[in-house]
Amino acid sequence: GRAESALSEARRTGGSSTVHYEDTAGVASQLTAALTAGEFTVVYQPIVDAAEGRVTGAEALVRWIRPGLGPVPPNDFIPDAERSGFIRVLDRWVLRTACQAAASWPRHVATKVTVNVSGQELDQPDYYDQVVAALADSGLPADRLVLEVTESTLDADSAAALDVLRRLRALGIRIAIDDFGTGYSSLSRLHRLPADILKIDRSFVAVLGPTDQEAPVIAAITALARTLGLRTVAEGVEEPHQAALLRRYGCDEIQGWLYGRPGDPELIGAALAGPRTPNHLLTGNR
Ligand code: C2E
Ligand code: MG
Ligand code: MG
Ligand code: MG
Repeated sequence: GRAESALSEARRTGGSSTVHYEDTAGVASQLTAALTAGEFTVVYQPIVDAAEGRVTGAEALVRWIRPGLGPVPPNDFIPDAERSGFIRVLDRWVLRTACQAAASWPRHVATKVTVNVSGQELDQPDYYDQVVAALADSGLPADRLVLEVTESTLDADSAAALDVLRRLRALGIRIAIDDFGTGYSSLSRLHRLPADILKIDRSFVAVLGPTDQEAPVIAAITALARTLGLRTVAEGVEEPHQAALLRRYGCDEIQGWLYGRPGDPELIGAALAGPRTPNHLLTGNR
């Protein structure tokens, strides 16, 4: 259809592959058909502890592999999925898929799986029950699940959303604030969020050069997190000097290409089975 030709046109010309849809009902039915056809898959990116480089968990990231077109990046379809409401269907599928994968990872390590949740999901009356069912059906203990919500999609003024977060935390599930520092974060909002982890956005990490010029921003974020009793996870760590600086400022965990690209669930399981993470196992270019 139209979206498909727009996409292939974008690929051919090497330009942006963003698809522009005409109507949200069309988007929803196209995405639903893709899910039914098995075109979505979940890849996992390792998260390591900053001190030792040990794998502590993995973030589940959705991929849409379009036949004949290859992978469509999430940033190209998540906004459409959010506008059309399909995101709720997709997020629940990713949640169930990720819980099942993590439940099969080696038992001797209490590795966490981290799942992205659109803020609008938290306003759905049945969301809490869906999470409980995903845990029960997979057998994954609640304390091995982390749910990531971006500040920008979370309505911190929604009493219902905050209440769901509180109830999920009471089960032992951890809540992470994703992409911290982007969007319209304010300290009063952050202070009110029932959360455990603050994810330092990639934009703050990317500017960390070999000198310590940008270090004060990292110092401030990690100090703020400590004051609020939150753990910190840095995103998008690509260079050893970035990891070293984050470690120096007390960042707890690190995620990025330096330690591994998103890959198949089996790669995480294999990495966990060994005493140290062989990095080559985790560098599938996805
Ligand atoms: P995010 O949750 O902040 O995920 C981190 C993104 O950074 C991922 O992009 C990951 O592949 C990328 N990344 C990780 N390490 C590095 C690095 O060292 N360098 C660079 N340049 N990038 C790195 P990805 O997979 O394209 O996902 C983009 C966004 O799409 C995610 O950002 C998240 O907001 C959203 N997303 C992905 N999967 C889901 C999902 O299942 N549900 C929802 N609601 N959103 C999702
Ligand atoms: Mg995330
Ligand atoms: Mg993030
Ligand atoms: Mg991000």
